[in-house]
Amino acid sequence: MATTQLEADYLVIGAGAVALAFVDVILNETNASVIIVDREHKPGGHWNHAYPFVTLHQPSAFYGVSSKELSKGLKDEVGLNKGLNELASGAEIKAYFDDVMREYFLPSGRVHYFPMCDYTGDGQFHNLLTGAQYSVTNYKKLVDTTYLKSAVPSTHTPNFTVHEGVKFMPLNNLPSVKHKPAGFVVIGGGKTGIDACLWLLEHKVDPDDITWIMPRDAWLLDRRNTQPSMEFFKYSLGAQANQVESIARSTSIEDMFLRLEETGVFLRIDQEVMPCMFHGATISQLELAELRRIKNVVRKGRVTDIFADKIVLQEGEIQTSSEHIHVDCSASALTNLTIKPIFEDKLITPQTVRSYQPVFSAAFIAHIEATYPDNETKNKLCQVVPLPNTDMDWIRLTAAFLMNQHIWSQYPEIREWLLNNRLDGFSQLVKSVSQDDHEKMAILMRMRESAKPAMAKLQQYLAQIG
Ligand SMILES: Cc1cc2nc3c(=O)[nH]c(=O)nc-3n(C[C@H](O)[C@H](O)[C@H](O)COP(=O)(O)OP(=O)(O)OC[C@H]3O[C@@H](n4cnc5c(N)ncnc54)[C@H](O)[C@@H]3O)c2cc1C
Repeated sequence: MATTQLEADYLVIGAGAVALAFVDVILNETNASVIIVDREHKPGGHWNHAYPFVTLHQPSAFYGVSSKELSKGLKDEVGLNKGLNELASGAEIKAYFDDVMREYFLPSGRVHYFPMCDYTGDGQFHNLLTGAQYSVTNYKKLVDTTYLKSAVPSTHTPNFTVHEGVKFMPLNNLPSVKHKPAGFVVIGGGKTGIDACLWLLEHKVDPDDITWIMPRDAWLLDRRNTQPSMEFFKYSLGAQANQVESIARSTSIEDMFLRLEETGVFLRIDQEVMPCMFHGATISQLELAELRRIKNVVRKGRVTDIFADKIVLQEGEIQTSSEHIHVDCSASALTNLTIKPIFEDKLITPQTVRSYQPVFSAAFIAHIEATYPDNETKNKLCQVVPLPNTDMDWIRLTAAFLMNQHIWSQYPEIREWLLNNRLDGFSQLVKSVSQDDHEKMAILMRMRESAKPAMAKLQQYLAQIG
């Protein structure tokens, strides 16, 4: 079969949230042409495989592409997110990304989208349905948005063995349960494990019928602190002030985490257990209260085998039965935590440059790509904020985050861009504080005063943990 030759300025691998946030800024800030290649039939990446009850865990206002609002500007009036800004559902996110592609990217005439195509390297890809081969030559930059390798429960392979006679399903299948089982065993203490437990509780499952296997406890973020409106200023910016103060005043790493909890930056499910995991999962206080109703929490390490009558874990066994439903929430959302420079020769590898904000980061990286001339400057402005796995990683990411914020603040052009980018909610909030508003000004002052001592303390802890 003959190979079709194609040309474009940017060859983008993947059509997930990160790719679309990147391309959106490139289209707005340059005249470049773009080819997007993805194995999926629709844009949105892993959201195409999300469980039916998935939602964002941070407000919609921060998500999507810069040029198109995702939020409806509403606060939830019912449910466990009551009183907080709405969280888009998986279906809404998929429809949104589809709209971005059909209503904006493709009509621009500068984007050529190849769904159902597998990229094999060297500018080569083929259509999975027809076998048609394509080759992209002379591209200016290759943008690899597949580097972080997201995994979701419905598409990953568990790293334990499920033996014959065991009822086992990803949480995607929970809504298809038709008969009450002997109990539910939720495997995984991360965000999907939380979502599975909350879904069961919201559907009136008795908390005593839930066994929650939690290999590691996590520090969690309070969603109230992520709200993008003035009304929540004392929580959002207040939490940032509390964060730098807690770090600066701490006398040890453990003391720092306890102060972060005491000042409302961090939450944990069980106050008797010191967490050692941090994935940036964000929950509301109402959700936390619900989760605490589950008393049967198993802390015996990771599952190695599930048999029809028992579950074997690294540090022991528990009973189960062939009448229990075992719910797989063990996929780790990001499987590649190794960092690399974002700009290397003709390759751009988007990673996070602001903690917990993959789409903001992609938009920011695109802006830096469009604005600054050389890779050295671009990498200086886009230092990777590593994705976290453990509590110690929180120290690494916070140090990198504070450093980036400091560097960006030296560039008036970047400050202006941040102010006008909808994915950066907090710059606008800070800018609009009136000098006469003493309460808010005091919060900003606390942030400024503690930023440097906090940075110094984090460097000390980094040297300690290596
Ligand atoms: C339950 C859940 C809730 C979340 N909530 C939030 C939130 O509230 N706020 C937030 O900021 N983030 C949230 N996230 C994080 C979310 O993962 C990221 O925001 C984002 O969706 C990741 O997008 P991506 O483009 O990096 O990866 P992906 O979505 O995985 O996209 C990568 C794409 O690359 C394609 N691909 C890979 N290899 C190839 C190849 N060889 N050829 C062609 N195509 C290829 C894949 O098909 C895929 O479509 C959440 C994640 C989960 C799982």
